[in-house]
Amino acid sequence: MNDGAPCSDTALTFLPVYQPDLSGNERRYLLEAFDSTWISSRGKFLDRFEAAFASVVGTPHVTAVCNGTVALHLALHALGLRPGDEVIVPSFTYIASVNTIVQAGGVPVFAEVAADDWLLDPEVISARITPRTRAVMPVHLYGAVCDMDRISAMARDRGLAVVEDCAEALGSSWRGRHVGSWSDVATFSFFGNKTVTTGEGGMVLARDAEILRRLQIAKGQGMDPERRYWHVAMGFNYRMTNLAAAIGLGQIERLEDILARKRAIAARYRDNLAGHPFTFQARKPEVTNSEWLISLLLPPRCDRDAVMRRLAAARIETRPVFYCAHHMPHHARPDVSLPVSEDIAARGISLPSYPSLSMAEVDRVCEALVEAVRAS
Ligand SMILES: *Cc1c(COP(=O)(O)O)cnc(C)c1O
Repeated sequence: MNDGAPCSDTALTFLPVYQPDLSGNERRYLLEAFDSTWISSRGKFLDRFEAAFASVVGTPHVTAVCNGTVALHLALHALGLRPGDEVIVPSFTYIASVNTIVQAGGVPVFAEVAADDWLLDPEVISARITPRTRAVMPVHLYGAVCDMDRISAMARDRGLAVVEDCAEALGSSWRGRHVGSWSDVATFSFFGNKTVTTGEGGMVLARDAEILRRLQIAKGQGMDPERRYWHVAMGFNYRMTNLAAAIGLGQIERLEDILARKRAIAARYRDNLAGHPFTFQARKPEVTNSEWLISLLLPPRCDRDAVMRRLAAARIETRPVFYCAHHMPHHARPDVSLPVSEDIAARGISLPSYPSLSMAEVDRVCEALVEAVRAS
């Protein structure tokens, strides 16, 4: 790296943006599942993981799948979109939210986010509704939560389905009600950097039992639960393995501890960086935030790449926030302009946020960040 950044100091520990903490029963359960030979998509850890997850979210209708992207695809599939049906989605999101709308036969309609909390703005949704609109997809980015009172009320008034993408928000709630329990269908991800991980994994939640049944049938090749090799509907193989569920059970048993540590880390970042020219995602009083990934906006006109290079030289990994989906080649919409989303996407970075990060390490990141911005 010959960009004027200081030389790497290899004596410093490398701080990644994320690493899972698997220090509870994860290993024991995984080996128990392995030794039992129930390594495929049936077994007691699947049942136990689903039950534990359902009790965390407070909804009985859940089904485990093999990642958060297929969780979204399955959820949208269950709505039975017809070609041309529109789904309102923020452009500032992880790409899976948008790809799966297209995969399910729908058309993504990009909506602006609010400048304060970076989330789908209920104010703008109504302006995006057309006679073809079937659903709205609020995405609870970085652990913050969309205004589910207003989104639910609007969807009810206009006859739209709500699909919540809760991949980043396990442990978050709106007015005390956990995310995922507000909508017709909701999804979670258990990728390696999510609050709870199974390696790769996901969960789909349904408000009613009939939709849950459709999801369960569709995730297992559309097979009739009472008649093997008789397929009653279009289906996929989206099942989770018992091995993944074993890790997930070990993780979810420790959810409160993981969340407590992530909240302490977030509070430390906010305290340390108060008075510096950074903009954090705003926190609404209705929200309990899981603090999945600490993300903030650098000051306007600051060179983000240079800041990230300087931090890398200090052995601190950072990453840019998501790019806008309407700028991606396969979703490109040159006619769409979303200035708030575009500004956040251009200035945001995410900082190390994993549960075993120590307070001294948070302090190190903050000092390096302030220094890197001053120098850039
Ligand atoms: C992680 C994530 C997904 C997809 O989850 P995978 O398990 O990686 O497939 C979907 N939406 C959002 C917002 C995410 O952050």
